[in-house]
Amino acid sequence: MAWVEAVINLAEGYDAVAPITVVSFDLDGTLVNKKFDDELWFTYIPRRVSEIEGLPLGKARRRVMAAYDEIGREDPRWFRLDYWLERFGIPEPQGEVIERLARCVTVYTDVAPCLDALRDAGFRLVLVTLARREFHVSKLASPVLSDHFEHIFSVPSDFGDVWKDASVWERVVDDLGVSPEQVVHVGDDPEFDLEQPRSIGIRAYLIDREGEHTGPYVIRGLGELTRSVLNGSDR
Ligand SMILES: [Mg+2]
Repeated sequence: MAWVEAVINLAEGYDAVAPITVVSFDLDGTLVNKKFDDELWFTYIPRRVSEIEGLPLGKARRRVMAAYDEIGREDPRWFRLDYWLERFGIPEPQGEVIERLARCVTVYTDVAPCLDALRDAGFRLVLVTLARREFHVSKLASPVLSDHFEHIFSVPSDFGDVWKDASVWERVVDDLGVSPEQVVHVGDDPEFDLEQPRSIGIRAYLIDREGEHTGPYVIRGLGELTRSVLNGSDR
């Protein structure tokens, strides 16, 4: 009955190479540059602390950096602008601060061709970001981004503090109703965007626009991702 085994092997083989149906993107450093975050966390907040406390800017900046280090990004408060504004006694509402810095958000030039090509080819496009939802009004305002995504997962807003391990990725694939190998993800954080999703079988890539990393899953731009997905390959 060798043919039965052959059919079973064939079926298992197809199972193992389930077709890609979902392409998932990180936001900051992948679709938009980090100028918004740099401006907010390293310029705006230290400057306001300097003004409010009457401190030299250098001293205010050191105080702010020490506070960021003390909390650390494993703490959910790290992601909350309202927490930091209150902690530093900055009276402006967070919505106003976020909108004021919207001009800093720049979409990378390879994003539109990538999203258009993948959408036209029928892939489901989703966003999995560590940016809290209140930032999306500015970060996703560009028409290049606003209408492309079937689902936007804000990990700190939707899942609380579970981003530290791969369980967030299990929830993402569950919510999308697919198996991990049907998902390609791309992002710029070696741990969150590559190691964790790879650990459950998602076909993840690290986008490294500066050329700092090497490895089998490192790409330099979204053009490489588009070609790879359209060819159905996972190097
Ligand atoms: Mg990122």
